[in-house]
Amino acid sequence: MRTGTLLIHSEGSIDNVTGALSTPIYQASTYHQFDIDNFGKYDYSRSGNPTRDVLENLIAELEGGDRGFAFASGMAAICSVLSIFSAGDHIVICGDVYGGTYRAVTKLFSRFAIEHTFVDASNLQEIEGAIKENTKAIYLETPSNPLLKVTDIREAVKIAKKSAALVIVDNTFMSPLLQKPLELGADIVVHSATKFIGGHSDVISGLVVTKDKEISDRVYQVQNTFGAVLGPQDCWLLIRGLKTLKVRLIEAQKSAEALVKWLSQREDVEKVYYPSLEGHPGREVHLSQAKGGGAVFSFKFKDIGKTKYFLKYINNAAVAVSLGGVETIVSYPVKMSHAAIPREEREKLGVTDTLIRVSVGLEDIEDLIESFEKAII
Ligand SMILES: *Cc1c(COP(=O)(O)O)cnc(C)c1O
Repeated sequence: MRTGTLLIHSEGSIDNVTGALSTPIYQASTYHQFDIDNFGKYDYSRSGNPTRDVLENLIAELEGGDRGFAFASGMAAICSVLSIFSAGDHIVICGDVYGGTYRAVTKLFSRFAIEHTFVDASNLQEIEGAIKENTKAIYLETPSNPLLKVTDIREAVKIAKKSAALVIVDNTFMSPLLQKPLELGADIVVHSATKFIGGHSDVISGLVVTKDKEISDRVYQVQNTFGAVLGPQDCWLLIRGLKTLKVRLIEAQKSAEALVKWLSQREDVEKVYYPSLEGHPGREVHLSQAKGGGAVFSFKFKDIGKTKYFLKYINNAAVAVSLGGVETIVSYPVKMSHAAIPREEREKLGVTDTLIRVSVGLEDIEDLIESFEKAII
């Protein structure tokens, strides 16, 4: 079945007790055991909950994996996945990884002696050069944040296979509608479902999908032990959000393409970063592993005055952190996602004072372009 149909007709999308087209919210922590010698499928909701099951099966089907897992946030999902490793293990990780993941690796897992090396993952030789005897995983985000750099997932998998390391891909920016890392050979996919999967800026959540039973068992052990599970109401919001993922993301992507084109032709704009834009160095690789550029792009004004004016006067858009909502969200990385990184290091990454990230929403494109035009002096 194709992804658009799966979003609507996955296993469990119709409740098999009542026939309800909306998944019931099982707001229960514990379950009566009818036979003390043979427990039922559910005993306690940290270990399993019927509403969460529907969501977990759905994301597993969408990503083409063995098993799905729902967590209380994207960071809970990512930290739970990193918890399958042990002291003395080493992880190769992309240098422009999400800020929370950067903090998890450098400030939390380092205390448990899990080592890491940051690399520019758009350069495969750098990935290969960072592999050590104890490397157990390559952790990627493609396209990355906020400069939309692209990593060749298939080639990274080849490098990982040589040393039996796992490949973990944060697929938040693309969603399974546009990119399916497991089909390209990756072992684990993680999502901040707060973004496109939830889609309405109303729920913090994370999802994980694993490739095979061995990895599933390791992740399940952490999910059940650490217990950062997603509650049934929030699971329901994601199940509902996923039903419209296709119409939302395809429409937002269309508008993103139009805005990117419009901005690229402006004199006052220095550069536009979008993975399917002509001239983007990762364009060919990106289009070989994903179905489109997505709904997030970044751009740089030529001067700081125009940048500040834009952030003050942009209309029909929120100025905020986060992305993937129905509303256009304009972010300012130097004051938001990258505020904690020293200026010099930040600028080396290309995150300058004139950089703006845009997550395009579902407003009429004519209004968006008009709003952008009015916010540029
Ligand atoms: C937001 C985000 C996260 C963290 O997810 P939360 O739901 O905020 O915990 C991880 N990775 C990427 C790419 C993100 O955009």
